[in-house]
Amino acid sequence: MRKPRKCELCHEHEAVYAMQYIADIVPSLYTLGSHIRGFKITRVCAECGAEQKYVAEQTKQFMALVVSPPNINFIVTTVPETPASEL
Ligand SMILES: [Zn+2]
Repeated sequence: MRKPRKCELCHEHEAVYAMQYIADIVPSLYTLGSHIRGFKITRVCAECGAEQKYVAEQTKQFMALVVSPPNINFIVTTVPETPASEL
């Protein structure tokens, strides 16, 4: 008897995807069996797989914003506008 593989993240649902990180922080999802050999895989269910991918994409976008471009102009404090002379 062979039990279906459980998702390694929620341990509730049946794993349907092999999640792999191929030279990127965003995981690639492959159906079990068609994943790329030689890369570490995490067996995940459809829900967890989609969630991991979404979170990773958000993180990647956020990191891209933080890391580049180094726009320091907005850091410079602007002097509050005061009227030169009040009549
Ligand atoms: Zn799961």
